[in-house]
Amino acid sequence: MNFNLSAHHQRKREEYRQFTQEHIKPRAKEIDEKKMFPREALQEMAARGYMGLPLPREWGGKGDDFLSYVLLIEEISKACPSTGGILSVHTSVGTYPILYYGTETQKNKYLSRLASGEWLGAFALTETQAGSDAGAISTTARLEDEYYYLNGSKVFITNGGEADVYTVFATIDSSIGKKGITAFLVDKDTPGMLIGTKEEKMGLNGSTTVELVFEDARIPLNNRLGKEGEGFPIALSLLDGGRIGIAAQALGIASASLEIALDFTRQREQFGQKLFDFQGVSCTLADYFTRLEAAKLMVYRAGWLKSRGEKCTKESSMAKVMATDLAMDASSKSVSLMGARGGLKEYHVEKYFRDAKVTQIYEGTNQIQRMVIAREVLN
Ligand SMILES: Cc1cc2nc3c(=O)[nH]c(=O)nc-3n(C[C@H](O)[C@H](O)[C@H](O)COP(=O)(O)OP(=O)(O)OC[C@H]3O[C@@H](n4cnc5c(N)ncnc54)[C@H](O)[C@@H]3O)c2cc1C
Repeated sequence: MNFNLSAHHQRKREEYRQFTQEHIKPRAKEIDEKKMFPREALQEMAARGYMGLPLPREWGGKGDDFLSYVLLIEEISKACPSTGGILSVHTSVGTYPILYYGTETQKNKYLSRLASGEWLGAFALTETQAGSDAGAISTTARLEDEYYYLNGSKVFITNGGEADVYTVFATIDSSIGKKGITAFLVDKDTPGMLIGTKEEKMGLNGSTTVELVFEDARIPLNNRLGKEGEGFPIALSLLDGGRIGIAAQALGIASASLEIALDFTRQREQFGQKLFDFQGVSCTLADYFTRLEAAKLMVYRAGWLKSRGEKCTKESSMAKVMATDLAMDASSKSVSLMGARGGLKEYHVEKYFRDAKVTQIYEGTNQIQRMVIAREVLN
């Protein structure tokens, strides 16, 4: 047993840190305040192969492993959690569906473009009445001649409006429940697919969250992903990897907010001494850094299992709960430790507090993760 990152992973982490300092951090504040989609950062990432880091080289990826990808998202999210989240969705649930379930033709058309970062991917499962209960989706797919016609709508779609291709889930027969759910690859300029409401969120302001509307959207038969009725298991299988990505994003948020609070308490004086020299303050920080270390071990282990191609449903849900609850608690505590200044934009920590919340919600809420863990532990 070895709990250290390998020399390769340590080198990679250093490379991602430097990249983040040079290309992500300088614009992170502006991206949040102006709610800007970080196009330039994504181009820089594409130039280094980061948009397809764990994808095989034969399909245009960098051919690195999932643990390196975890480290990349963590480092980027320390500066800009929006960019970390965009990368996670693009890779885990925007590109992997095609690697795992695509035909040769689909791989030839989509995979190398997504892995190189020429195209951006997105994943559209959630509907107004089908959030946690994703099996209750009602968007329909009707086959006529050589085309499927999609009708309905999707909500809260990350990368929506910016993505070039969406993995969309629809039912071919609502009377058979989840067994009717089927996955489709939908190009951005598909006739009948419209971009609806763009949501205004409390955090992750750099990422887009939109409604997709389908009005007889015409999808070629060849763009069905997997067989009819295989969509629901496909969606669930992708979420294991997706949840590890969100957990890595949460590690970045927790770690960055704690570093800001630590730095602040070492400088600010009250009652004639540094805040950090009060045990109430230093022991509080000690508790959070301890939780951070535990969360890292869990997230890296889940990433390592995925790198080895092992089943990691339980581990990815556990890692997501641990890291995202920590991101919320740690960023909230960091704001508190800084008093009034914690709430000022100038100190940046309030941004992590706003960005942290959604990590507990998307790719399955933490209540749903607990249901997954209970099911896995009891089986
Ligand atoms: C910023 C953002 C980006 C997103 N990106 C995407 C995306 O790219 N693609 C996509 O398809 N979806 C996306 N989503 C949707 C996200 O996955 C859903 O919001 C999430 O699954 C929860 O669904 P819901 O919001 O409808 O909440 P609901 O399912 O209505 O749940 C509301 C509350 O009830 C709880 N609850 C529900 N069922 C149970 C139960 N059985 N037991 C205990 N508690 C329960 C939930 O945990 C939650 O606290 C995104 C959401 C956000 C906020």
